[in-house]
Amino acid sequence: MPDLSAGQVTGDPEQRDRPGPAGPPGPVLSAEALAVSYGRVRALRSASLSVRPGGLVLVLGLNGAGKTTLMRALAGLVPVRAGRVSLCGRDVTRLPAHRRARRGISLVPEGRGVLPGLTVRDNLDLGWHTAPRGRRESLDATISRVLELFPVLDRKSGQDCRTLSGGEMQMLAIGRALASRPSVLLLDEPSLGLAPKITATVYAALGQLAADGVATVIVEQKAVPLPVVPDTVLVLRNGSAVHEVHGAKPSDQELARLYLSETGTAPGEEA
Ligand code: ATP
Repeated sequence: MPDLSAGQVTGDPEQRDRPGPAGPPGPVLSAEALAVSYGRVRALRSASLSVRPGGLVLVLGLNGAGKTTLMRALAGLVPVRAGRVSLCGRDVTRLPAHRRARRGISLVPEGRGVLPGLTVRDNLDLGWHTAPRGRRESLDATISRVLELFPVLDRKSGQDCRTLSGGEMQMLAIGRALASRPSVLLLDEPSLGLAPKITATVYAALGQLAADGVATVIVEQKAVPLPVVPDTVLVLRNGSAVHEVHGAKPSDQELARLYLSETGTAPGEEA
């Protein structure tokens, strides 16, 4: 199984917050009562979560619930109006996105963000180049680990990434993020536009990341086939957490009840 965990703490000041292979006892990433506004729009009113090394947090919510805003706030891409983000116990709330990335937070945005015109391999190599020097294994070792996780990318490594299917493109986006050797992976709607079977393949790989110690936060609009029991399932509505389940997958009935209360439809149906 490929080891894509955060690895050793080094002398690099940007690296000191990274957990070692065994991970620290506490959460690697936590957010307390985050609030974000875009002008007069209160996109996120209050959201809290924490994820441990190898842990998984799933955030569910309908269109406009504030999921992307939460991810952007965790990654440092939008300023927070209130609340706090901590990485390995250190306050990073005011740290810009590129410095959070250097400390191990990697975001795969909705729409994937791979670079068209470049080959699959070039996209993966770019991910490796964004890994801090003190944390880099050799390029080849890192990329082989990613390709072990997503063998289809190996077969297509010389192709322009625009020729990939939606599922392969999602795997490439996740692979590129992993090549940067994150300690926390943030995935914004990885199942968007994917057939259920392909979604299951992508999620199965995410199960291996958990085993390797990578902390993962995923947002989705609907329930997905989780490979491991999540630490937390958080349901966002109108920018606030309205429901939390800890240490268990919510039952289909529980999810249906939460969604029905707002939309009159069950998860997965058109609202
Ligand atoms: P979706 O599932 O459709 O991506 P979401 O849960 O990710 O939705 P956000 O994209 O976080 O929701 O948006 C939360 C709220 O903030 C929405 O009302 C949205 O219209 C608003 N919003 C998002 N981005 C901006 C922006 N740049 N300027 C103003 N309002 C915004």
